Amino acid sequence: MIDCRSDTVTRPTDGMWEAMRAAELGDDVLGDDPTVRRLEDRVAGLLGKEAAVYTPSGTMANQCAVGAQVRPGQALLLEATAHIYFYEGGAPSALWGAHTILIPGDGGAFGWAQVATAMPPDDVHFATPALLSLENTHNKAGGRIFPQPLVEEVSRAARAHGLRVHLDGARLWNVHVATGLALADLCGPVDTVSVCFSKGLGAPVGSCLAGDLDTIEYARRLRKRLGGGMRQAGMLAAGCLYALDYQLDRLAEDHAHARRIADDLDNALLGVSHPVETNIVMVDVAPPGDAEELLEHLASHGVAALAVGTDRIRLIPCLGVDGRAMDTVLDALNSYREGRA
Ligand SMILES: *Cc1c(COP(=O)(O)O)cnc(C)c1O
Repeated sequence: MIDCRSDTVTRPTDGMWEAMRAAELGDDVLGDDPTVRRLEDRVAGLLGKEAAVYTPSGTMANQCAVGAQVRPGQALLLEATAHIYFYEGGAPSALWGAHTILIPGDGGAFGWAQVATAMPPDDVHFATPALLSLENTHNKAGGRIFPQPLVEEVSRAARAHGLRVHLDGARLWNVHVATGLALADLCGPVDTVSVCFSKGLGAPVGSCLAGDLDTIEYARRLRKRLGGGMRQAGMLAAGCLYALDYQLDRLAEDHAHARRIADDLDNALLGVSHPVETNIVMVDVAPPGDAEELLEHLASHGVAALAVGTDRIRLIPCLGVDGRAMDTVLDALNSYREGRA
């Protein structure tokens, strides 16, 4: 099966397995796993922050950021389809008592005008805004890039209003590869940033939260409270280090493959309604077709995709999906169109 459901389905490459097997281990909860330390230092350096903490998932990295920066009853402002709001089990309210205020976005991005409209006034009637969260690339918007001038604009204004700023950068690696901008520059305007190794980078487990020393020290306490303190985690961290060394630049290949799908599909039955800027392609099915029927057709051609609605599927080319596999994906999509024509 050619698996294009998500960039989370990748398996460790041979080199990654070897690096994991060879990793020097300790007990990370006691603070002496050298490989985890190495990963945290490396990530803090890459992202231009003072410190980083390794977590089992991106959800936990994001939630440590929320928990460390929002007190119960304070407001977290974020885009209306943000992962933290939409796909994390209601965690901001369930775990931290955070009041969420939604900002309408365009392709997942927004400017200060949109934030200002949503900002509660300084008045006893309202929740005090504490944290603004951005997402780059934006998952639900189809891997869209939050334009850096807007990241700078909203972050500067939010901080001037006394808010802190978090960046959900699960796929920030893709922004770096697509734009050529340095990771530290992408993170420069924000206080905390989360990144995932288990997406396009191809590692099996893990994310990091980076930021200033005090915030990350507190986030480390929250990670333990959430059950995310892992012992010989160096074997996992070694996979992440290997991914940074050998599997970062190849994201450009995923972007080219996503572009191929978008360029090929632009007809009345199957269309791509968003600019494909990185590795995610949302394919819209016009009636009389529907998402389930298209998924079945693709599966019968050996291609797995994911429904994200009754009339939309998602395809994410990733490590393990090469150019030949892409030919099969395009043939499968085209034979669906021909069968419907
Ligand atoms: C995948 C993802 C996460 C984290 O997901 P986990 O499955 O918990 O690792 C966070 N934010 C975005 C935008 C994502 O796409």
